Amino acid sequence: MNVKLKVNSVFGDPPAIAQVALDVPIAPWFDYRIGRDLQGCLAPGVWVRVPWASGQRVGIVVGLSSQTDIEPDRLREVTGVLEQAPIAPENWLALLRFGAGYYHRGVGELGLLAVPRTLRSPPAPKARQNAFARARSAWGRPSARRALAAAGGGLEGPSGAYEPPAAAAASTVPTAPTSPTVPIAPAAPIVPIAPTPQVSSRQDGLPLGADQQRVLDALVGGDGFAVWLLHGVTGSGKTEVYLRWFEAILARRADAQVLLMVPEIALTPQLAGLVARRFPPEAVAVLHSNLTEAERARAWLAAAEGRVRVVIGTRLAVLTPLPGLAAIVVDEEHDASYRQQDGLHYSARDLAVAAASLAKVPVLLGSATPSLESWHAARRGKYRLLRMPKRIGGGALPTLSLIDMRAFRTRAALAPAAIEAIGATLARGEQALVFINRRGYAPVLTCEACGWLSDCPNCSAWRVLHQRAQAPAAARNAGPPARYQLVCHHCGVDAPVPPACPSCGNIGLSGLGRGTQRLEEELAERFPDSRIARLDRDVARRRGAAQAVITAVHEGEVDLLVGTQMLAKGHDFRRLSLVVVVDGDAGLYSADFRASERLFATLMQVAGRAGRDALASRVLVQTRFPDHPLFACLLRHDYDGFADTLLAERREAGMPPFGHQALLRAEAATIGEALEFLRLARDIGEQCLAETPSDEIVLFDAVPMSMARLKGRERAQLLVESRDRRALHGFVEAWLAALRSQRSRARWQLEIDPAEI
Ligand code: ADP
Ligand code: ZN
Ligand code: ZN
Repeated sequence: MNVKLKVNSVFGDPPAIAQVALDVPIAPWFDYRIGRDLQGCLAPGVWVRVPWASGQRVGIVVGLSSQTDIEPDRLREVTGVLEQAPIAPENWLALLRFGAGYYHRGVGELGLLAVPRTLRSPPAPKARQNAFARARSAWGRPSARRALAAAGGGLEGPSGAYEPPAAAAASTVPTAPTSPTVPIAPAAPIVPIAPTPQVSSRQDGLPLGADQQRVLDALVGGDGFAVWLLHGVTGSGKTEVYLRWFEAILARRADAQVLLMVPEIALTPQLAGLVARRFPPEAVAVLHSNLTEAERARAWLAAAEGRVRVVIGTRLAVLTPLPGLAAIVVDEEHDASYRQQDGLHYSARDLAVAAASLAKVPVLLGSATPSLESWHAARRGKYRLLRMPKRIGGGALPTLSLIDMRAFRTRAALAPAAIEAIGATLARGEQALVFINRRGYAPVLTCEACGWLSDCPNCSAWRVLHQRAQAPAAARNAGPPARYQLVCHHCGVDAPVPPACPSCGNIGLSGLGRGTQRLEEELAERFPDSRIARLDRDVARRRGAAQAVITAVHEGEVDLLVGTQMLAKGHDFRRLSLVVVVDGDAGLYSADFRASERLFATLMQVAGRAGRDALASRVLVQTRFPDHPLFACLLRHDYDGFADTLLAERREAGMPPFGHQALLRAEAATIGEALEFLRLARDIGEQCLAETPSDEIVLFDAVPMSMARLKGRERAQLLVESRDRRALHGFVEAWLAALRSQRSRARWQLEIDPAEI
């Protein structure tokens, strides 16, 4: 739809139609009439309220037009302008148009994801404005109307067709956008608001090491759009480089803003603290999903109005409107949490590259273990590779060794050599970390008599045995039923542990295997005099709890730390000299082709926590597959060798980054219904291909997902592959259009560049 639209670019003849992006999947945007009292008040980027069904919705004007193919009597009128909301900058609108085209979703669906609820969902107009007024600072700013007036109407100007971003050539982003041409006038410039915080550095950074200086010089010498890949080993001082680069960029322009993206919320407060010591606190905004609604609204507004100069945030932050965007850093760019896993599946890293390209600014991707996609782009010269191969201050990388677990038949978590190493470390007054990537007490509860296992009624998964976070005082000594519960990590269903086997009535139930809680318990028995702390997602659920653990480790109040993935990232623990990885091969033989890439990254990252303070440090990896080639690279700290080997395999198999993928997923009450829909979809796909033949596209068979049942729904998937990204997106566009007109009891969704297959 909308293809026939033409923009009226004749100044003085006000366009009658506003194209409004709404958080609705049906179309990229919707046409509304501009009433007489709003003539001249609307431009791309202005927030409006519009009628939708029997209610009202908030949307963003993405274009103006004199034409529409909606019949006049069905065309509804824009209700009003949200005068309190800052006009969205053109670079942001461009990112939304690009992202919507790339992920084949609505502009507003993407755009409104990051917008605070106070703005997104209008209660009574008055109340909303007040909520927003409360969220903003005392400065206030000109209303949209006055900003437009100041900009001389703002509707004039070249209204060229939407060009694919330059990044399209940079491989992370696709070629031709498949959404219809979007002629758009430039947004009214944001009227500068009273004092922009100055960002002269408050605390001088450390004198840079030679590698840091070389990297910084390269970055500072760059101009315009570029993707830099900084491959720096753990402890090479990447953060300091980010901060110096930001200082240089912010010093160039008074309205410049920089975006620092980080993977994990647990990391944000620390980094925010670090940044706040370098830049005035009023110049910094932190955006992540753990904020209260009011905090979010305040930070978002400050960013969108250009009042803050440094924005730090997790994946959603990439969708923050930043009128002064001048540079982006994506720290730990390989991290899986940059990928939104449900709803609208987007990759924040890829969007960051697109955003930089559209705003013609540089983006820096930093990691000790870059994603294969980024590594490949750097190898081909599309990204510019920067390297920091040594730890700062001459600190040595830890010595890695494997413990062959095939020698042990016992169920014990730790091999004798690991226990010995922990004991010796503690005796020296140093810290040890025991890493296990499984939370809870035991992964499954079993009946010793009949073999019953605690499966989940809703999912194809086991319910995990958990110790309650805080057992009520009265119940604390009441035995297992009160202290433990069964929790499904997928649907969240929880129940007390049954007093007897639900299948045979036997009362001998026990946990099989171990997670963080059991490991913590076992270590406490083994090392009764040591101070033990645990960090996993259960601990982190309580506000501030993760930070408290991390602080305690830094302050030397913890001797022995047990934790998951959460600990693998970024933390800089100075007195940690031993890391033990309990299950070093988890995922090694997984069906997912990305599993070994992820495992290698995790192991490198975990190992990187050791020996930051030039302590002679060790990493012990327990495994039953010591001969696997992955470990040979790991022991040598050889990222290049590992990445190049994997790339060769992927090239051979036509897998990403050499091939491109889309995954159609369907869910229904029965697996039959889900598969039936996908088979129909496959037939429709074949028809699409017959009409525009392309031997580039491969449609696979529909199969149940590896975890077929989730939350009581059965799920299946159909993979589409192509060596040609452009061909893939062209096909998907036509295919989706055909699928949308199908009626089916199955719910379905298409994911571009699926992270897991
Ligand atoms: P990375 O992110 O590359 O793993 P970090 O940025 O965490 O490394 O830096 C590791 C440690 O080195 C930090 O404690 C940091 O304060 C310190 N550091 C960074 N740059 C310097 C420098 N130029 N001189 C001294 N210490 C530094
Ligand atoms: Zn039983
Ligand atoms: Zn479940």
